[in-house]
Amino acid sequence: MRHPRHGGPAGVLAAAVRALDHGPCVVTAKSATVRSKPIGPSLRCYANSVVLIETNLEPPNLLKHLQALEVAFGRRKRGQSWRARVLDLDIILWSGGAWADDQLIIPHPAFRRRSFVLYPLKQIARDWRDPHSRRSVTHLAALLPKSSTF
Ligand code: AMP
Repeated sequence: MRHPRHGGPAGVLAAAVRALDHGPCVVTAKSATVRSKPIGPSLRCYANSVVLIETNLEPPNLLKHLQALEVAFGRRKRGQSWRARVLDLDIILWSGGAWADDQLIIPHPAFRRRSFVLYPLKQIARDWRDPHSRRSVTHLAALLPKSSTF
């Protein structure tokens, strides 16, 4: 799926990072962009990147901010997790440790098994730790199965 203004996945991603580095958020580091194969029935390929953000927003307000950006990029209504989507912004880790409420779980529940998250995350936050296992990002990436691909 191509975005009418930003083009393919890499163009959407670059525009999303520019949009993130604005208002209440400052982007202080960005990983390289990696491509991943589709998960689930979607036929699309994805471009993925991890950024480090400095913000005074509490996690629930950061999530609202990210969801507003998704909508601005034309994402369709929520709850269609595996459908083709224009932009998906997730919170992976937080300097404050763990968070859990009805809407938001930090660390992101799937991040430990996703190579397309852990490999780029390693580029910009290798020493950050999973607050539950206390393992570093480098350690978690090393635990991925050898067959893991993007
Ligand atoms: P999805 O459609 O798969 O992107 O799931 C989005 C939903 O996951 C959102 O409505 C959030 O309430 C919820 N969610 C829970 N934890 C997180 C997280 N760490 N980052 C982003 N969304 C999250």
